[in-house]
Amino acid sequence: MPPIFEITHKACAGRIGRLETRHGIVETPTIMPVVNPNIQTIKPSELRKFGAEIIITNSYIIYRKPELRERARSEGLHSLIGFDGPIMTDSGSFQLSVYGEVEVNNVEIVQFQQEIGSDIGVPLDIPTPPDVQRARAEEELGITYTRAKEALGLKKDMLLAAPVQGSTYPDLRERAAHELSQLDFDVYPLGAVVPLMESYRYSDLVDVIVASKKGLSPAAPVHLFGAGHPMMFSLAVALGCDLFDSASYALYAKDGRYMTVRGTYHVDNLQYLPCSCPVCISHDAGELIKSENREELLARHNLYVTFEEIREVKQAIKEGSLWELVEQRCRAHPQLLNGLKRALHYSDWIEQFQPVSNSTFFYSGPESALRPEVVRYRKKLKNLKLGGRVLIRMRRTGNEDDFDWVLDFKPPFGPYPIELKETHPFNAETTDEPDYESLTAALQNTLELMELNPDSEFTLVLDDLPEHPLMKEIKNYHNA
Ligand SMILES: [Zn+2]
Repeated sequence: MPPIFEITHKACAGRIGRLETRHGIVETPTIMPVVNPNIQTIKPSELRKFGAEIIITNSYIIYRKPELRERARSEGLHSLIGFDGPIMTDSGSFQLSVYGEVEVNNVEIVQFQQEIGSDIGVPLDIPTPPDVQRARAEEELGITYTRAKEALGLKKDMLLAAPVQGSTYPDLRERAAHELSQLDFDVYPLGAVVPLMESYRYSDLVDVIVASKKGLSPAAPVHLFGAGHPMMFSLAVALGCDLFDSASYALYAKDGRYMTVRGTYHVDNLQYLPCSCPVCISHDAGELIKSENREELLARHNLYVTFEEIREVKQAIKEGSLWELVEQRCRAHPQLLNGLKRALHYSDWIEQFQPVSNSTFFYSGPESALRPEVVRYRKKLKNLKLGGRVLIRMRRTGNEDDFDWVLDFKPPFGPYPIELKETHPFNAETTDEPDYESLTAALQNTLELMELNPDSEFTLVLDDLPEHPLMKEIKNYHNA
């Protein structure tokens, strides 16, 4: 059987993929709007217009209500919901996490999802919240694993998702992911991360994503369960998440909140509408605030900006500029910036997935000095076998012919052979005045290159640089 998920383009640890379901192929990354079987602000049949290729609904809500349950059984899920594309169903785990119990067991809800024609079903896993005692996280992981395995035995033609839990213990997340990936599941949701996002704990979220990804096969599609704010899509995609779901567009609308990639406004505080979606182009801020349909209009706007950002992310993957987009978006909030800084702790891990690119590296601030491309170059320094007299320079000196090797010095990379000037990443667009972090990375590489080539005689012409403690170290090494 051919794989149901095929990766077609990559950038950082992110990718564009094709997920095959019984109701058609979905291009990832994408977001699944959450459809409540009871209340619908926007008709599911309209969702394609916004860009939705797949939606998600809750099988437990359907199961619990006899009238919905019977209709789903007789006419099928797609007719009940009114959407003819792929539909993923959740199992009631969310209700379990909120109310502590549900009126259904794992076997019943998995069979029900299969029976009503769900495209992707989920077992009744235990969503362990952040920061619980380790013993509880471990015990609940055991139950989730048993139920996932049990579900696998019941599945017929439905794709099955196996949620990765483990609270805020990265080692438990990695272990859970690894154990589940040994079995034949189709999609891997990362569960119980909503509380982290609600409290803006983006660095913890990054730890959870990377730990889980490390345990999974790189070929597996990953769903970040409950992530619906467009300002964090690029970061999550860059770390390898493929699917998102959004109840946020409707929940935010209910609270009068207007989403943008820069963050969220309360609609009452808006003097202008900084968007050109059909809602914002046909209303001004005053009209939107006073409108009788305010909630629906806000939900529509929120959905438009959500899919706009998904398209932006996909474009960035194809042109190899995803990391630039991440750096821009993560400046929307200090906690997102913390998330970016945490993600850079994993540059080494990201680097192994990052394809060699033809795009131009844009330096956009101190975080760029730790990007995967910089890490990759550092690893390659050992391949640069020098000998004889070596010149490291920032500008032409005129006596280049006196040297065996001439290396250009460019922060954040440091010294590199001038023949590579026009190639990625050395054709980077950088600032004329390097910042401290960029210079640190470049000087560390200089020092490392000198240490790797103890027999070479180095001449450094770096006189235009600002003061930096590593300069002293380099001079000392030089004179030793
Ligand atoms: Zn709008």
